[in-house]
Order: sequence, then C-alpha cells, then structure tokens
Amino acid sequence: MEINEYQRLALRTANSYESWDLIINGVLGLCGETGEVADHIKKCMFQGHEFDVELLIQELGDVCWYIATLAKGLNVDLETVMKMNIDKLKKRYPNGFSVEDSIYRPEVTD
Ligand SMILES: [Mg+2]
Repeated sequence: MEINEYQRLALRTANSYESWDLIINGVLGLCGETGEVADHIKKCMFQGHEFDVELLIQELGDVCWYIATLAKGLNVDLETVMKMNIDKLKKRYPNGFSVEDSIYRPEVTD
C-alpha cells in the first residue's frame, strides 16, 4: 500500500473533516496512542506483563491513523511529511548517525 493511499483510507473514518478538528483530534490522539505504547512498556517493566509484539504493532497502527489525521488537518500528504523528514535527516547525518553530528548541528529543528 502506498502511503498516501493509507492516508486516504484512514481518513474514511474521521468524524470531521474540518481542519481544526483534524488538528486537535490528531494531536490529542497521538498523545493518547503513544501513551498506550508507553503504558504497555511500563506494565512489562513494573507489573509483570509479557512483552506483546502484536499489541505494539496495533498501537503503531493507531499512531499512524492520528498522524494521517493531523497531516490532513495541516493540508499535507504523508508522502510529503516523510520526504521532508528524510531530507532533514540526510542533511543532519550525511554519513548516518554520529554523536558529533547529533551534538553539533547547524540548524536546530527537532
Ligand atoms: Mg490504541
């Protein structure tokens, strides 16, 4: 599946297509879903739960849904978001990750 096709299919289930609704829903949903990932890890570390790969994969899917939603609210497709991220990383780490490039970088946009 192409990434923009995913975004189109994911947005079929959005309950509003107003930009501000998509942005707020996306941001809050991302917080919630990443919290679910963190909660699972917490339960594994401190409450004796088994590490559940399937659960985490499903949560990653939920994270993707909210990323797609937020991107739509920002009027950008996912392919563009990903391409911009890769371009930034190529500039920041031209030879792959290094501690020096991480610390001493010309532009600071996390
Ligand atoms: Mg979830």
